[in-house]
Amino acid sequence: MSKRTLVTSALPYANGPIHLGHLAGAYLPADLYVRYKRLTDQDVIHICGSDEHGVPITIAAEKEGVSPQDIVDKFHEQNKQIFKDFGINFDYYGRTSSPVHHKTSQEFFTKLYEDDIFVQKTEEQLYDPEAKMFLPDRYVRGTCPNCGYEDAYGDQCENCGTSLSPTELIDPKSAITGDIPETKETTHWYLPLGDFQDRLEKWLETRENWKPNVAGQVKSWLNDGLEDRAVTRDLTWGVPVPLDEAEGKVLYVWFDAPIGYISATKEWAEQQGDPERWKTYWQDEETDLIHFIGKDNIVFHCIMFPATLMAHGDYVLPKNVPANEFLNLEGKKLSTSRGWAVWLDEYLKDFEPDLLRYVLGTILPETKDSDFSWEDFQNKVNSELADVLGNFVYRTTSFTENYFDGKVPELTDPTKKDRETLSQIATQKEKISKAYEEFKLREAIAETMNLARIGNKYFTELEPWHTRKDDRQTCGNTLHVCLQVTAALSVLFDPVLPNKMAQLRKELNIPGKPNWSDISDSILPRGSTINKGAILFEKIEDEEVETQLQKLCNRAEKQSDETNYEPLKENMEFDDFMKMDLRAGKILEASHIENANKLLKLRVDIGLETRTIVSGISNDFDPEDITGQKVCVVANLAPKKLMGIESNGMILMAEEEDGSLKFVETDAEPGSPIT
Ligand SMILES: [Zn+2]
Repeated sequence: MSKRTLVTSALPYANGPIHLGHLAGAYLPADLYVRYKRLTDQDVIHICGSDEHGVPITIAAEKEGVSPQDIVDKFHEQNKQIFKDFGINFDYYGRTSSPVHHKTSQEFFTKLYEDDIFVQKTEEQLYDPEAKMFLPDRYVRGTCPNCGYEDAYGDQCENCGTSLSPTELIDPKSAITGDIPETKETTHWYLPLGDFQDRLEKWLETRENWKPNVAGQVKSWLNDGLEDRAVTRDLTWGVPVPLDEAEGKVLYVWFDAPIGYISATKEWAEQQGDPERWKTYWQDEETDLIHFIGKDNIVFHCIMFPATLMAHGDYVLPKNVPANEFLNLEGKKLSTSRGWAVWLDEYLKDFEPDLLRYVLGTILPETKDSDFSWEDFQNKVNSELADVLGNFVYRTTSFTENYFDGKVPELTDPTKKDRETLSQIATQKEKISKAYEEFKLREAIAETMNLARIGNKYFTELEPWHTRKDDRQTCGNTLHVCLQVTAALSVLFDPVLPNKMAQLRKELNIPGKPNWSDISDSILPRGSTINKGAILFEKIEDEEVETQLQKLCNRAEKQSDETNYEPLKENMEFDDFMKMDLRAGKILEASHIENANKLLKLRVDIGLETRTIVSGISNDFDPEDITGQKVCVVANLAPKKLMGIESNGMILMAEEEDGSLKFVETDAEPGSPIT
């Protein structure tokens, strides 16, 4: 094990509030992991902060008619507070508009520039003549060349995760005016990722225990070959490029944002009164650097940032990037614009943070997408937190209070059952530690709850309410065992339920800060007294769940009234339409494609022949359900390689307002022309 761990959580864009999806993706997992590490006295710091640059910020500012600074000031403070209220315990929460960050990222650029790492290119880029500006990143949207998703951003397709350049988009449109952009020459500096391909591959080979979903995605990008990526943009908001000839240009947000982890660590060290200490976390080989992120950030943390760090040369590279998949809400994809989300500040008005920390912790999308529902929230709070953990703790403490004057009874001639139950503390502690160290946080939480189950079952089986009358010694032993298990739980559950466990330790009269090494079968000395037990968890009533569901639906409805259907495209000439060869077809076979989340590989009968078509529909359809499906096919679309497979044509789909896809069906025999 290394000497120290530096944990970072993805810097949230300071253009909106934090919702459940963000929390489950990066912040809660990181916080659970770090809280565990702190309890074990490991040297660990947790760094995060607001990402205040980039096009999402300027677009949000334009929408609200305020300055980008106004937007970031508002959401930086708001999100910082919400994280705090929810118990996400960062050692430092910085912001990328800080002078330290501007200086640090400019120094990075200058070092790479002076070392001749960058490639300078003058190329045609998309330009909106009406808005009089270039259209970097999210200022342009269009069809993803990789998966066919029609609303991909100029810097990344949110559907398949591929990082893109605006000019790679098919049918690009300006996000400002909706116009088809022109092209215009401009000069930029590129990081030649291809030069780092070998080093990245070698480095990745030495990484251990990476999640298969992360390793798989990275491998597939490497297999496709890495291209040059521009690290500068024609924008006014951001970190100015520190070159005389680069006026009006700023660093690309994905170049400067990860450096934000370094800047924030510098500010933290300054605050600690030890300004050079950041170096031990970033430049000493004995540091484990861990990035907690959502899956949409994998390419930046596993390819671009490591390449940047390699190019610089003075820095440690990430040890692991335990990226999570996505969290859905009530069976549907979370969407801020559609109002389909639970915002943390709203949640905290109605419920305590620990409840959501627990429930989300049990459903973290660690290896695949998972779903949050209010009904499941209620079930888990009621049947696990209240009925198992809360009930066990309450029975144990109130029984001790009522029949043993609140004193921990002695353990005298324990039975095999007593000893076995006590030994489960050490067994579970080991399982839980292992799960945390391996980033299996769901498992860590499940095993912690299992100890409460063991305790609860033991209490029920030993029936102290009977033995207290005629067998005081057995009764005392039972309570002794239950109290030790309760005390162990008050530390084991601390990463998940920090507020509730602090309350419990107070009830048990356990002073000071909790520590993992305290967990044993004799935490509570005999004869020590405890306070009267309180109820830790109240059950959630059906009405409370209905209120939440209603709130969610009302907002989604309100926002869908506000959203319009896609505006109609410009008119086209009849001849243009006639160029398109549409045919009736039938799907013969469908299968998943390795490492491609959304794509299915289809064998389609179009009468004249059978084609392979790659289609981005696997979120909506299972392969086994669509064999025999009748479809409409664009048959004369030029062949295109998607994830290494040549796709010959396109299946027509209708997209409903909630983003779900439906086939455009026809009863005609395969091959029939559609005109
Ligand atoms: Zn895509």
